[in-house]
Amino acid sequence: MENINQILKEQKDFFYSDLTKNIDFRIKTLKKLKNIIKENEEEIMIALNKDLKKSSFESFATEIGMVYDEINLHLKNLKTWAKKEKIKTSLVYFPSKGYIYKEPYGVVLIIGPFNYPFQLIISPLIGAISAGNCSIIKPSENSPNTALLLEKLINSNFDKSYITVINPLGGKETISYLLDLKFDYIFFTGSIKVGKIIMEKASKNLIPVTLELGGKSPCIVDNTANIALAAKRIVWGKFINAGQTCVAPDYILVESTVKEKLLIALKEEIIKQFGSNIKDSPDFPRLVNLDAINRLKGYLNDGDVFFGGDVCDKDLYIEPTLLINIKDNSSVMKDEIFGPILPIIEFCNLNDAIKFIREKEKPLALYYFSEDKKLIEKVLSKVSSGGATINDTIIHVASSKLPFGGVGLSGIGNYHGKASFDTFSHSKSIVKRGTLLEFPFRFAPYNDRIHLLKRFMK
Ligand code: NAD
Repeated sequence: MENINQILKEQKDFFYSDLTKNIDFRIKTLKKLKNIIKENEEEIMIALNKDLKKSSFESFATEIGMVYDEINLHLKNLKTWAKKEKIKTSLVYFPSKGYIYKEPYGVVLIIGPFNYPFQLIISPLIGAISAGNCSIIKPSENSPNTALLLEKLINSNFDKSYITVINPLGGKETISYLLDLKFDYIFFTGSIKVGKIIMEKASKNLIPVTLELGGKSPCIVDNTANIALAAKRIVWGKFINAGQTCVAPDYILVESTVKEKLLIALKEEIIKQFGSNIKDSPDFPRLVNLDAINRLKGYLNDGDVFFGGDVCDKDLYIEPTLLINIKDNSSVMKDEIFGPILPIIEFCNLNDAIKFIREKEKPLALYYFSEDKKLIEKVLSKVSSGGATINDTIIHVASSKLPFGGVGLSGIGNYHGKASFDTFSHSKSIVKRGTLLEFPFRFAPYNDRIHLLKRFMK
């Protein structure tokens, strides 16, 4: 672990060389990162397949392609984002000019989860580079092939005093050690439980944090919705990466008059997308480990299986499963499911569905399938969530132009595109005063000038 202290010191020294503040240097680094990924696409897809049995299509769409979009947006806009912003100043301090300077924090720590193990390390890294920081990266040990590949690609192409991957197979001991060090920023993606540990430890040194967490993201379907299309889009968003997606629809609240129709449509869609022998489908990934299988198996007893329910421990496989007649107070409706099990609960009145969601913690995402514009606005204004997609699932996360993050227990802060640049930059307020004029107004003795002051400040 002493090695880590030495690397942190070297990164702090490198940061104070001021080279990372140079815009051309940042652009060159982003281009270099993109080239490294381009040259190693195949290897990245192989590692993701070994870790989670992701298909090449899924790996490209959700891990590699997203990262290209993000880099391209930064390359296009970085110069504009990094410019000092001119701000009007008060007449009281005439003559003066106000500015906001975007200043990199210094050395940032990026900690990733197992489920999108490539994208969720590289996306924040792009923001960190773009804003002019040095980075120490800790990928998840639970996706070991991708973690080792990240170490190889990053550490053989960048100087460790600028960007480095640390102990890729190290577990919470490595992270605990890292969290005692004085980083300038911590960017964490993972569970709420570990998010709390990160924030507690960061608070000892008052290190600012972004916490990209999870939770139970609801999906409402009302009786105006296009049911066939809703089913298609829900099946896609729920079962991509075998349900191990932070913004996957966690459960469905369906208006009782269309419940049967939706159930049949969901079942048909699952078969359409993955075939009748899903276990052999090359497009359906696997759970991360046996702990995940054991946790998820328990949920199958929390209701009746309408479709699916097949489990193979050895193959880390759980069939896409539709669960109905959910028992009151069951675990499946308390924990984040994070797997291919979809509980379906009916409601008679939209207000009841809204109340049901509001009684839980604020979710990372909200989905609502409806053709009623007024009801859509009602749901959006009444339910607080990190983000939302109407009449589809997940896709608000895919746009690098929309900030992505949680609210309440689903997270603190956001990133993607400009939001990433801002997240990894401190906004430094500057006033530059002229020296040719000075009004005695603000200096003691004040006499009865308070009357004049009240005219300015009312
Ligand atoms: P996790 O919280 O278990 O692990 C995340 C990271 O924390 C890993 O690198 C792990 O090594 C480390 N870690 C684990 N236990 C630790 C401890 N006790 N102390 C210090 N570090 C520890 O999360 P996961 O299982 O890898 O990922 C699944 C969770 O992440 C889900 O809750 C999901 O919703 C969330 N997630 C959120 C986003 C998002 O962008 N909001 C994206 C992906 C995943």
